[in-house]
Amino acid sequence: MARLPKLPNLLDRKIYKTGQTRGADDDQIFQNRVGRNSTVLIPLAVWRGHETIRKLDYENGYIVLVPPPEYFGAGCQGKLQQEGVEVGQNALVFYELRSHWNEWNPEQAGLTAPTSRITPLGGSYVARVANTTAEGDERINRGYTSTGLKGAGIRLYEYAPTAVIQSARVQLEALFWLAEDAVQTCVEVGMEEAAVAERRAAALALAKKTGLLDYQALRDARTIDASDKLVCPLCLERLSSLGFMSRMGQAAGRERHDLTVTEINLFHIKELAYGLFNHRPYNLGWGHHHCNVVCKDSGIVETLKWMKAVTVRNSHLFGE
Ligand SMILES: [Zn+2]
Repeated sequence: MARLPKLPNLLDRKIYKTGQTRGADDDQIFQNRVGRNSTVLIPLAVWRGHETIRKLDYENGYIVLVPPPEYFGAGCQGKLQQEGVEVGQNALVFYELRSHWNEWNPEQAGLTAPTSRITPLGGSYVARVANTTAEGDERINRGYTSTGLKGAGIRLYEYAPTAVIQSARVQLEALFWLAEDAVQTCVEVGMEEAAVAERRAAALALAKKTGLLDYQALRDARTIDASDKLVCPLCLERLSSLGFMSRMGQAAGRERHDLTVTEINLFHIKELAYGLFNHRPYNLGWGHHHCNVVCKDSGIVETLKWMKAVTVRNSHLFGE
């Protein structure tokens, strides 16, 4: 296949980054913005409750996080063994509470911090304990704290295999091209008109060919409207593709600068739930950054109900 014309940089970056997890800082156990196919962290209760999660073949493995009482308690180690949970191999004791740290101090128990995310883990425990106001109770971060080995793994629901990451990118580029001003925007940021047409046609054809771009499913997912134009899944407003390239837009100082450019982000349609991986082509759309923030973790319908209640309580402001 001949090489396709390149997408504008900011857009290309935005689509690429959809294959990565969200950010995390050093005080969290998670890795910071890495591929969604990275080592997955599974809380013991979730491991126990979901057979599908136990059976999945994770591309870069998984680590079960065992709360200290489930490891040190009477009879616990035999139970873990029966369940196929082996600390140091596919599991770690995870300290989050100071009371646990004080009661079952890992160093006194002879546990060491791991050196790898892949079996064998080279150690048995990890700790992220917050500081308290009490004197001497400083934050405790142990395990996966060094440069090159920061964070133990990713949040379970963010996981996606390489093939899904790739098809999600194909879907998300196709959706971009359904923005009503996508062609105009690409020309404005410097693509040749013929190149835009070629890239657009190829992207839509690739999506169709691989079972994506099912318009009815996309309408059901609230990512496009009845005229098949790209909309924000929360507010249903049509999205301007300028929002994909807002930095570039500001720099170029173009004639449409009077329009308010709202940043556009990746939007997960259904909220997060264990047992349900949220990064799937028909659970994804593009939405306003603000709408995404408002919606976070609650789900679209729940958020809309909340908004309705808020506006009803404020109806005096609207002269009603
Ligand atoms: Zn919106």
